Amino acid sequence: MTKPINRLGPMTKAIHAGEDRHSLIGESAPALHLSSTFISKSVEGFSAHDIKPDSPYVYSRWANPTVTMLEKKLAALHNAEACLCMASGMAAASGFLLTLLNKGDHAIFSDVCYAGIAELAHDTLPRMGINVSFVDMSHPKNVYNEIRPDTRLIHSESPVNPIGRLTNLAEISRIAKSAGALHSTDSTFTSPLGQDAIGLGVDLVLHSITKYIGGHGDALGGAIVGSTELIEKIRFEAGIHLGGILSPFNAWLIARGAATLPLRLDAHQKGALKVAQWLESQPSVTKVIYPGLPSHPQYTLAKQQMKNTSGMIAFQVGNAKRGREIAQKMMQTLNIIHYAVSLGHHRSLVFWMETEGLINTSFRLSEKQAKSYRDFAGQGVFRLSVGLENADDLITDLGQVL
Ligand SMILES: *Cc1c(COP(=O)(O)O)cnc(C)c1O
Repeated sequence: MTKPINRLGPMTKAIHAGEDRHSLIGESAPALHLSSTFISKSVEGFSAHDIKPDSPYVYSRWANPTVTMLEKKLAALHNAEACLCMASGMAAASGFLLTLLNKGDHAIFSDVCYAGIAELAHDTLPRMGINVSFVDMSHPKNVYNEIRPDTRLIHSESPVNPIGRLTNLAEISRIAKSAGALHSTDSTFTSPLGQDAIGLGVDLVLHSITKYIGGHGDALGGAIVGSTELIEKIRFEAGIHLGGILSPFNAWLIARGAATLPLRLDAHQKGALKVAQWLESQPSVTKVIYPGLPSHPQYTLAKQQMKNTSGMIAFQVGNAKRGREIAQKMMQTLNIIHYAVSLGHHRSLVFWMETEGLINTSFRLSEKQAKSYRDFAGQGVFRLSVGLENADDLITDLGQVL
């Protein structure tokens, strides 16, 4: 390449970064290396401790060329030094948390975050002797007030799944830095292109690459991005020892999806804005939360922090009873949109998320936290992941049920 990779545009990086121009075979599309083991050319030790940065491939749990190709692509899209890919978003999340937190350490989590991570933080980490706090990070002061001498990590998410509330990533990064703690953030809802988390001072960026990065709903994966020092530490413990590594086949599929991420994300945003505006005009819709709409309570922060507001919309239809009725109708009536969990795919997906269940089971919110949740979500939201279909067709589909 003529320029260093980090100086290239996002489309060029998405397509070329990590791919091997100098392969002996000369393939133009990346090869899929399924081999679990690699023939040694020299006498090496059997322990992963013997791996050096320039070691050849030995065994695919340690490193695999197809997975490395995707890791380099994702690091380049973040302008970050390194990336580790794992079998799912949760494998990446549990992998970095269990590597970086020790017995007696304190970690602060966003009180609303991906339900699996909230449950892991509430149930599993305390069993390991890790102390956890949960705060509403839409007010950075709450994070500041929760800092203790033993605080090692602050984990945020923006926008938060499922209610679309934002966190000021630069502000939380400053608080973390002054406390000597790491700041990790889950950027699954925006992909690396929706917000420059590393540029905003975040130490580790988490993605479920099952979502926007893969983008086609056919492969699960997770990624954690950051400095070489942190990522290699996590690779050693979470990848090699805990073992939840990404399969080369999934890496290949996800890299194929990632190549068109910049184009897709622009189209997701364009479609979502049209659908969100239409939803706002519907009498049966009582509230729409989308960071691209001026009605979003943190629109100023969205403008400042987000480069693309992606395709994730939350909307309310009144009370929970009405929500359940419409969810039932969606399952029977929708022709295009799938009533299903997950997000970020080319197909549009919608799912009803009722407030009472979530705030008691996954999030276990205090009164004050529950109030902030209800300010966004009321008695429940439909989480709509606007895909790449024509917005007019999605509107017609939704019009049948709203
Ligand atoms: C889906 C999701 C995860 C978990 O990812 P998996 O690939 O399903 O394990 C984590 N965070 C967010 C925000 C998600 O949407």
